[in-house]
Amino acid sequence: MAKKDLPHAHILIYLKEKIRPGYVDNGIRAKIPDVQQDPVMFEIFSKHLIHSPCGALNMKSPCMRDKCTKRYPRKMIFETQTAEDGYPQYRRRKPEQGGDTAVINLRIDNKYHEVKIDNRWIIP
Ligand SMILES: [Zn+2]
Repeated sequence: MAKKDLPHAHILIYLKEKIRPGYVDNGIRAKIPDVQQDPVMFEIFSKHLIHSPCGALNMKSPCMRDKCTKRYPRKMIFETQTAEDGYPQYRRRKPEQGGDTAVINLRIDNKYHEVKIDNRWIIP
């Protein structure tokens, strides 16, 4: 099953009060789950919630024009920030700040390549 075939919804939620970074972190995360603590979640993440590395790692990725149209890899940021435009920048910690890494198999021209990824590639 391709990622685009997964059940999903496009919704709009209007909030009376401005949402705070800690509240965002309670429901939305952009981090690789710990494989030791939750191997099932890690497996789900590996299959569905990683933006396959693109750019210099894979210029043939369907997301690529001059650069990634989905804006990956995202910026590492220690704490979630809420911006005036309403779009939060999700916490994406570097490995030296406690963020995990993972090795995934990236398929390019029918060959698999092991690529080490970090939280910059995670779909929130
Ligand atoms: Zn991309």
